[in-house]
Amino acid sequence: MRLSNNAEEILEHLWIMTMETGKKTSGFKELKTDRNAPEVEELIALNYIDVSEKGIVLNKKGMKEAEDAVRRHRLAERLMIDVFGIRKNLMEDTACRFEHLIRKEVEESICTLLGHPKACPHGKPIPQGRCCRERSRSPKSIVSNLADVKKGTKGRVAYLYTGDNKKLGKLMTMGILPGVPVEVVQTFPTHVFKIGHMQVAVDREMAGDVFIRLKSR
Ligand SMILES: [Zn+2]
Ligand SMILES: [Zn+2]
Repeated sequence: MRLSNNAEEILEHLWIMTMETGKKTSGFKELKTDRNAPEVEELIALNYIDVSEKGIVLNKKGMKEAEDAVRRHRLAERLMIDVFGIRKNLMEDTACRFEHLIRKEVEESICTLLGHPKACPHGKPIPQGRCCRERSRSPKSIVSNLADVKKGTKGRVAYLYTGDNKKLGKLMTMGILPGVPVEVVQTFPTHVFKIGHMQVAVDREMAGDVFIRLKSR
């Protein structure tokens, strides 16, 4: 059975609260629902949540399902920005509707297409899927990180993702900024790229933080 959109939104909210803010119980008001709402009944019937007077807590079974929903939401956002070129301020609404259309079967294809992105456009981490762990470097990717592409690959920087501000600053001062054309000159022993007329060298880890939109062949 497929979850309703409302139930999926509740799962996402609960996962974000639990995993990213450390608050385990969310109140009904905060979730914009109530104890007798159909979406709450739905989640109880599936045994995804535990309900008390204070609100709702995700249980173990629900946690996995919720993580998948968050993953789909953040993948949908990446898809909006990286592939459809929708501006960030217009993205939210479309992404919210689109995420519910992403089924399990296509989720991995979308993730591969996007080069197994590490973060959504808001900088929030995207939970990994099986495809990310197995990292089959499918030639179908439209976006890839610079550590995974071959010499001679051309594209434009789509976005940078690193949890480390110092590294981010370093990449930016090298001229690695969204929209800038890149060409891979060398991949061993260091990664060397042509950025405009300049050549820059970075280690593998830093190359993995730069995602480029590949030039179509
Ligand atoms: Zn986001
Ligand atoms: Zn993946």
